[in-house]
Amino acid sequence: MAQYAAEKQIAIAAVRRACGLTASVFNKIVKQETVTKEDSSPVTVGDYSAQAVVNTILNRVFPDDPIVGEEDAADLRVDAGTALRERIIQLANETLTAPLVPGELAEWGLGPDHGRTTEQLLDAIDRGNYNGSKTGRMWTLDPIDGTKGFLRGEQYAVCLSLIVDAKPVVGVIGCPNLPVSLENPDGVRGCIFVAVAGQGAYQLPLSDPFTGAASKLILPVTTPETLCFLESVEKAHAKLSFNEKVAQVLGVTKSPVRMDSQAKYCALARGDGAVYLRMPVGSGYKEKIWDHASGAVLVEEAGGVITDGRGIPLDFGLGRTLGENFGIVAAGSDIHAKVIAAVKEAREAEAAETKAAEH
Ligand code: AMP
Ligand code: MG
Repeated sequence: MAQYAAEKQIAIAAVRRACGLTASVFNKIVKQETVTKEDSSPVTVGDYSAQAVVNTILNRVFPDDPIVGEEDAADLRVDAGTALRERIIQLANETLTAPLVPGELAEWGLGPDHGRTTEQLLDAIDRGNYNGSKTGRMWTLDPIDGTKGFLRGEQYAVCLSLIVDAKPVVGVIGCPNLPVSLENPDGVRGCIFVAVAGQGAYQLPLSDPFTGAASKLILPVTTPETLCFLESVEKAHAKLSFNEKVAQVLGVTKSPVRMDSQAKYCALARGDGAVYLRMPVGSGYKEKIWDHASGAVLVEEAGGVITDGRGIPLDFGLGRTLGENFGIVAAGSDIHAKVIAAVKEAREAEAAETKAAEH
């Protein structure tokens, strides 16, 4: 069997179920079910219950693997969290007990009669509290990446990655709202992207990720006509004014494509855009490993290159964040170095402007 074949199957199953959950939650979200985390990003029942589902499945099949997950259940264990907790438990159990589909195995503990108790599910959420490591296996999960896009009914993604010795080796990204083909933006939506180190990157239908047709993704050669940036919608997440400067240096003529979440990596891998550029707005923010691990293996397996904004490799072995990495540049191998050079030029020009303004 190919390396990581079991991990790939489980990750696809977990992400598919979590995507079904989030999509069904979308229409039912009521205001009281949105609480505010310290960083004021909206967290919904969808995030918690999706993390409960994915961690439950991972823990059943790989009980020794630690998980770095975005959420923790502290807010759900207090009295004030009762209504939210009940809703989350119900949703997680509905999702875990849904009938098996071809490709899922009975020993994964899914399907009717496999409901879990409240305590089991809260513990499953908290199993995501691992602090990361340079060595060994760990999973990283963003149960709803792009929560703001999710709440707007736009792009979001369920992202799961297996990291071994600080290198993402399996990446699965479920995008319930992403059109199957950019050429037909109003057509069928729902894709899942799967990459395993050394085994390529693929897009499959989210509705049928085990037996549906897989398209192999290979980054196309970049031409002046296709040179276009992929960037965040949220201005607080990436310095979009800086992207404009880099685009000027590179002579980009096309408008950027803005979308939330790691769907940007998926769009890049299939050639919907040529450069994913994400530079920090302030100085304090450290990128989270769950926001980039799945995307990193996907882009690399599609033939692209991913580094920080200075061309330094991303380090997934420093804990829950990418540590001292500064920004993200992902692009085809034909233009990645040019983008790094343009970022450098734009940063130097910006520094000179700031200095001039001070005098
Ligand atoms: P995106 O949808 O690409 O804009 O990114 C969504 C992710 O941005 C979320 O999952 C957050 O983890 C992350 N995020 C939150 N605050 C910041 C920030 N100040 N700078 C960069 N990323 C952030
Ligand atoms: Mg995220």
